[in-house]
Amino acid sequence: MGKVWFVGAGPGDPDLITVKGRNLIEQADAILYAGSLVSETATRWAGPGCAIEDSKGMDLEEIIAWLIRKAREGETVIRLQTGDPGLYGALIEMVQPLDEAGIDVGVVPGVSSAMASAAAGVESLTLPEVTQTVILTRVEGRTPMPEGESLAELAQHHCTLCLFLSITLLKKVQTELLQAGWTEDAPILVVHKASWPGEEKIIRGTLADIREKCRAEKINSQAMIIVSPTLGARQWNELKKSKLYDKSFSHRFRKAQTTSQ
Ligand code: SAH
Repeated sequence: MGKVWFVGAGPGDPDLITVKGRNLIEQADAILYAGSLVSETATRWAGPGCAIEDSKGMDLEEIIAWLIRKAREGETVIRLQTGDPGLYGALIEMVQPLDEAGIDVGVVPGVSSAMASAAAGVESLTLPEVTQTVILTRVEGRTPMPEGESLAELAQHHCTLCLFLSITLLKKVQTELLQAGWTEDAPILVVHKASWPGEEKIIRGTLADIREKCRAEKINSQAMIIVSPTLGARQWNELKKSKLYDKSFSHRFRKAQTTSQ
């Protein structure tokens, strides 16, 4: 009986897969990739005998049946997922039936689109004395949000918010951020197809105008919305420096320099 690996393919650029993920692709007997979000080039390291299929037209049951069938035939089976498999990836829904079928499962993490979007904009999601917290969330669409997790509630922390699956709900994003006390001039970054070679689009705006700007650019899918008090820090004159590199701060690998009197 083979093993099914859930491998994070990364956000789009095929070079952003981990070495472990790539090694598994090289060894794989079968790969099922989520074609709506993962580029087929992500399978380019697969060997000649590897069965490769796009799951775009399959429902969850068909995906599970495919994985179980292949795991019974071969040794290494891969479910290639976008970004990191543990974020909005239906991971557990697929793992449970594999557990029931007695098939071994492994997960290889991936670079999430949240990280790739921050990188695209040369932004830091945390900054000393600005915010030290990142919330990965979405606004309520067809999937209901659990109690206490509405954007209006989460945004009250005024930390960094990375909003998945919400680009068609920008109106709601605006309303809930305003409810939480964010101002109309709060900066917002939207990245469409972060890291996809030749396809990435970066839109910068404010709470007041981001919806208009995204509409003008026809962005209505595969986009990350980042709302953060750190946005644009590259241009700031006043920046509190991280303690990590501070001369007067000791840590495990470096002693503080003491000033002589
Ligand atoms: N597991 C994935 C998220 C899957 S949910 C991850 O870790 O990134 C799909 C949502 O992810 C999309 O609606 C969009 O909000 C975001 N997304 C996926 N790929 C993206 C990309 N290349 N650029 C921007 N957002 C992306």
